[in-house]
Amino acid sequence: MSHYCVHCGSELVLRVIEGREVEACPNDDFVLWHDPKVTTAVVVEVDGGVVLGRRAIEPGRGLWCLPGGFVNDDEDPWEAAARECAEEINSAVELTRLIGVYHIPKRGAPSMVGIAYQARLSGGGRPSPGAEMLEVGIFAPDSLPPLAFPSHRKVMAEYAGVLPPAGRATKSRARAEAAEPRSGAAMAQRGSRPSRVPAPSRPRRTR
Ligand SMILES: [Zn+2]
Repeated sequence: MSHYCVHCGSELVLRVIEGREVEACPNDDFVLWHDPKVTTAVVVEVDGGVVLGRRAIEPGRGLWCLPGGFVNDDEDPWEAAARECAEEINSAVELTRLIGVYHIPKRGAPSMVGIAYQARLSGGGRPSPGAEMLEVGIFAPDSLPPLAFPSHRKVMAEYAGVLPPAGRATKSRARAEAAEPRSGAAMAQRGSRPSRVPAPSRPRRTR
């Protein structure tokens, strides 16, 4: 498919720049660089679990994913991450750390640079589904439903792997030894089934 210069409208021609074959304008300095898009994913911790949303839109409609999305041109990535949590799971969050930065290769679309953060709720209330979600759930990190995106599986693997082993053992031991007889049942329930909150209305398309 032919592409054209955004400045003068000339048909672009192949040129080699810095060892890379690119489409460039024969009349001026316009180059059609294929830059990656920047996207975020957020692991929001709630009660020892993480928040996932079941998608109301393509791609991956009906599957679960982490809250997150594209970074706008005028946003810092952390602002975009917090905004997406407000939009997708109706939650104010405090980002607590950077989990990692990933290249997400795509065919037929720009590849992405994914930035994954860990976060906790900062406002009152429980997560609930935003416009792009059918429902939200809180899942144990080792008992996740099928996720829509390979990149989110990678983030969750990294998240589970980098939790300090001592901290994890202490946490689960503390739970197991808790005097409340219902705490074990609550853990088991969280592990097998999320506490789901259905969407109140039809989703509306937003970015
Ligand atoms: Zn041109």
